Amino acid sequence: MEEDDDSDDDACCPRSPVTLGPSPSIGHEHGLARLLKNNRKWSKAIRERQPDFFEKGSKGQQPKVFWIGCSDSRVPENELLQLAPGEVFTHRNIANVVVSTDLNCLSVLQYAVDVLKVEHVVVCGHYGCGGVAAALGDQSYGLIDHWLANIKEVKHQHLLNLEKIRDQEDRCRALVEINCRNSVLTVAKSPIIRAAWERGQSIEVIGMVYDIQRGLLSELGYHVSNADDLACHLKVNSNELFEARKECAELQKL
Ligand SMILES: [Zn+2]
Repeated sequence: MEEDDDSDDDACCPRSPVTLGPSPSIGHEHGLARLLKNNRKWSKAIRERQPDFFEKGSKGQQPKVFWIGCSDSRVPENELLQLAPGEVFTHRNIANVVVSTDLNCLSVLQYAVDVLKVEHVVVCGHYGCGGVAAALGDQSYGLIDHWLANIKEVKHQHLLNLEKIRDQEDRCRALVEINCRNSVLTVAKSPIIRAAWERGQSIEVIGMVYDIQRGLLSELGYHVSNADDLACHLKVNSNELFEARKECAELQKL
């Protein structure tokens, strides 16, 4: 088989006739042939630009950024950050929620901090987040309600201020932001980050939000680089938080 041949047939062909037989669904029912063809083209284009790219990558990864984002398909971290494979370590779930009992997320965090020594942990929320919108309402969605309960808890902590926002879309945007803040603080409070700071490792936790309508990423002002920063953020009450948000919106209008 010629590896660089980008025909549909090639994309369906197994690399080894013994171990990698094609799935019966490939190429027809789910358009998987197109995905494999795209992959061949992508691999070829990268090797044309940088022949040793994959060989170098196979020797290890040294990402500086650990990204915790939403699973939403419209928020692809590598693409919107314009980073190549190997440059961003990632954990994604519905509505970028970080919970101190989530062993999956914490294991990824520990690997990122202790082994990869990332320098930036970016928690990224996004406007138009379906998970946050669902948590804002009262409708039940089944199993996922258990996950959304984490966001609902944040909502209840800030309910008085959220209810002052009459516009439903703006209220949802506010919950996207404070849900992101909550995840930032949960990461920063974790024993993993605290231990890193205590041993002098330089690592910051940053809250960002992605605007799907404009394709733009913005900082949210939740930036935690050490235990003192964390203590300051933890002292901020709900009224102060929403006041700061209002001031920020006014400044953006200028
Ligand atoms: Zn989302």
